[in-house]
Amino acid sequence: MTYQVLARKWRPKSFSDMAGQEHVLQTLIHALDNNRLHHAYLFTGTRGVGKTTIARIFAKCLNCEMGITSTPCGKCSACLEIAEGRFIDLIEVDAASKTKVEDTRELLENVQYAPSRGRYKVYLIDEVHMLSTHSFNALLKTLEEPPPHIVFLLATTDPHKLPITILSRCLQFSLKNLSPQKIVDYLRSVLIAEQIPFEEGALWHLAKGAQGSMRDALTLLDQSISFCAGNVREAEVSELLGTPDQTLLIRIIEALKGENASGLLDCASSIAERSFDYFIFLENLLSLLHRLAIAQLVPGGVDNSQGDREQVLALARELKSEDIQLYYQIALNGRQDLANAHDPRMAFEMLLLRMLVFSPQPPVDTALLMQVDTHSPIQTAETPAISAERLTPEAADSEKKKTELKAKDSDPAPAPVKVTPIEDSACLTPQSWIALVDELAITGITGNLLANCIPESQNESSLALILDESQSSLFNDEHLRRITQCLSGYFGREMLVRISIGQLDTESPARFRQRMQEERIQKTVKNFENDENVQAIVQQFSAHIQQDSISVANEVK
Ligand SMILES: [Zn+2]
Repeated sequence: MTYQVLARKWRPKSFSDMAGQEHVLQTLIHALDNNRLHHAYLFTGTRGVGKTTIARIFAKCLNCEMGITSTPCGKCSACLEIAEGRFIDLIEVDAASKTKVEDTRELLENVQYAPSRGRYKVYLIDEVHMLSTHSFNALLKTLEEPPPHIVFLLATTDPHKLPITILSRCLQFSLKNLSPQKIVDYLRSVLIAEQIPFEEGALWHLAKGAQGSMRDALTLLDQSISFCAGNVREAEVSELLGTPDQTLLIRIIEALKGENASGLLDCASSIAERSFDYFIFLENLLSLLHRLAIAQLVPGGVDNSQGDREQVLALARELKSEDIQLYYQIALNGRQDLANAHDPRMAFEMLLLRMLVFSPQPPVDTALLMQVDTHSPIQTAETPAISAERLTPEAADSEKKKTELKAKDSDPAPAPVKVTPIEDSACLTPQSWIALVDELAITGITGNLLANCIPESQNESSLALILDESQSSLFNDEHLRRITQCLSGYFGREMLVRISIGQLDTESPARFRQRMQEERIQKTVKNFENDENVQAIVQQFSAHIQQDSISVANEVK
């Protein structure tokens, strides 16, 4: 026996087989049972939600040999032929391929004749919005004076493209996208009937991937069954669809709650191992934080889109609301960091650690933790994860000694720029301001304007900046709004930002970047001139070096 794809095999054969769309079915059943039939029905909704399935069942209801009924027998020749797509009085048209007026004319030519076998001649026109204006006119003429034995079933994903004259002559039913819960329930029943083992979590991934379409859900299920070699497991399905594992997202929030830095880095390792797209992962993290925030304020408003409603509610009870807000802001700003980073994993780890470090009550000296970090070797994908577990006082002390020792042994590196932790925002130095602007990584004109600012004064809730007057011509309220938003996000609280225009007496981040770039070019030129091979060429050919032509490949940020 040949394998039949699930979407076809499990296509509902009666109204009672259908998952969802109860509101539509109830009206249709009522009309059929009371013999109150209309001559034109329009089913609207996105792809795969059941428009043509309902229309085909409806055609059976009208033509079942047992009589007009909402529960066709499924056994008579009319029911069987409709199910097999070969019933002579069910004329199915895909308007996407038949849009010319001649096609419609040909289609409607036979409207006047009585049905050959059935009670009704049923015209099912799918994607009806694709018909041409002339075709619509031809259809309209029939709809205005329909012969009594005709029923039109129109289906479209885009009802707005239908002429109002057509719309007004149809009974309209709008089909809803299926909820993840409905899809999961249906997939579960299919898998049980097919005797295929599965993990419940996998079904939620499929439901999410299907975006409300049952047909897509069944197609994805088919793919998963072959991908997972017959056992539908969550990890494989999440890999197939590229959707992050929900349990991994929950683990991140739990690590943040438990202030467990190594736990966070473990999560980052799992993400890297399973090659998730960091952007998609971040989107999903934002979505979870959003649901947690809702869970705290309106517990009834939490959806069960991932099958984890109870887990989200429980987690929300254990988290501080200001923490959730802070994590959300950091994650939101982190998208920019991720876009700019050449090593997304590193950027993602920094983002997670930032959530931990900037949480309102860090249990250890934040400045110390950061100082230790600046001396640690740079974390790469190959090196083991840095151990940034919250330090006990003793451990911190020994770390500090180690750090001091390292500083005396190692090369005199340029003084590390210390990012001012949130509590110290009242003492932004020119250096920490440069680091902060760098970290915010705002792009475009707004970013350029901010890089040309220096801090004038600040306190816990406000920050006054001076914008370099030579760069001020593009400045407007929209830039101020964006800068305020970003700084509020950075500090994790509403900041009042004031920007005045004037002369700068300290180095702005933009001038710092420029100076670094110039120094880098000078160094490159010097290295070039001192290069043995270059010197040999100069000597041998009496060559002359054009300094302007030397450029540095990567601009220093
Ligand atoms: Zn029948």
